[in-house]
Amino acid sequence: MSSARAASLEEGVLEIEAPTPFHAEWLEDKFGDTLRDIGSHVWGSPLRLRFSAAGSAPHRNVPEVTLAEATSPQVPVLEPAPAPQPPRGGTGLNERYTFERFVVGNDNQLAQAASQAAAKNPARTYNPLFLYGGTGLGKTHLMHAIGNEILDRSPEARICYVPTEQFTNEMVTAIREGRTPEFRARYRAIDLLLVDDVQFLEGKERTQEEFFHTFNALYDAGRQIVLTSDRHPKELGGLEGRLVSRFEWGLVADVNPPDYETRVAILRKKADEDEVVLDPDVLDLIARSCESSVRELEGAIIKLLAFSSLTRQELTMELAETALASIVRGSGSQRRSLRPESIRDRVAEAWGVSGSALASKRRTRDIMVPRQVAMYLIKEFLDLPLQSIGEAFGGRDHSTVIHSLKKVEERLNDDPAFRGRVDEVRKELAQSA
Ligand code: ADP
Ligand code: MG
Repeated sequence: MSSARAASLEEGVLEIEAPTPFHAEWLEDKFGDTLRDIGSHVWGSPLRLRFSAAGSAPHRNVPEVTLAEATSPQVPVLEPAPAPQPPRGGTGLNERYTFERFVVGNDNQLAQAASQAAAKNPARTYNPLFLYGGTGLGKTHLMHAIGNEILDRSPEARICYVPTEQFTNEMVTAIREGRTPEFRARYRAIDLLLVDDVQFLEGKERTQEEFFHTFNALYDAGRQIVLTSDRHPKELGGLEGRLVSRFEWGLVADVNPPDYETRVAILRKKADEDEVVLDPDVLDLIARSCESSVRELEGAIIKLLAFSSLTRQELTMELAETALASIVRGSGSQRRSLRPESIRDRVAEAWGVSGSALASKRRTRDIMVPRQVAMYLIKEFLDLPLQSIGEAFGGRDHSTVIHSLKKVEERLNDDPAFRGRVDEVRKELAQSA
């Protein structure tokens, strides 16, 4: 894709020119807010953005700030990934969402494997396939990946990706215009139906009714159905029981927030796709800053690249810290300079053992006590999720962490000498931070 460029800057309006109207719209949708924030920051006062297609904006004096223009090889360029192609033949599929681009980790591997199985053997493995989990964790991506793979293999396959809200709107329109038979016929002549975010069926009785019949028709005809939701079917309150039970006929698979390693792998992949090389420390910083969703991770990397490109600065650790300041956990300097590992190592030192011993599997008392104390102090200072704390100790699970926190708590109450020792380390940590 050729680059977007800043075409003009007049009276606080930055005109950004993209090669086609389609690109312009896509850019605005995907980067609009970020660019406005960063542009205003760089410009020093609020900036408004106007996106246009090449040729439609008269060229005026082009400002200092230029998008996607390589000035030196070190400066990553804001070159957005290729704009999504117009929907693949009316399927509603986005061809960017493929299995190749999906990073598999502990937290999504069941959902990913089930999706691949459904793509390989539609309607013969898991039907329906029901994916659920929090927002920004890759459910929609997997759903499109199934569709894309089937379409690549069988270009004649009739595939329909539809967000639940669209399904509802189409149905309402069909009813209003007296065209329900057409609506039904269309949805029942499909080989693969992908319905995204079925939690939006809650409380909509008429849509549920219609959906129920569509589901049955397709199911009976041996067609594959894939559904996503932000919750397990059983937790979908405003849904008819017969629909919930159908949702559970096949396989229900969850997606969870990615662990640290998966976050790093995702960032590497995104950087590769954009052909930028990121410093490992910067990767580490982003991975630690964004824990709850992949969308957030993507947002952070886009923000960073944009910042670096607009300010024409190399993406150093320092720049990354500045640019990410708003999302980096705990903006206070105390928190930022403390890492779980440094707390762990400090505690190890105080107990006369090595930091790596605390991360090892050893279960002798001389190691277990400082390990528990370290977990306790990491929780206190950084308030990290239990799972992330476990990660700093060789990937221990959250129940182990909970147990450790409890043990330390108890002993702090009962054992003054122990309390004195923990206090010492606590004081040191507070000072060094
Ligand atoms: P959800 O539907 O669960 O809210 P999406 O599928 O829309 O989440 O994912 C949000 C963004 O994160 C998308 O751009 C998607 O490509 C990306 N993404 C999510 N999970 C992964 C993953 N495991 N590997 C690569 N990209 C991912
Ligand atoms: Mg989604």
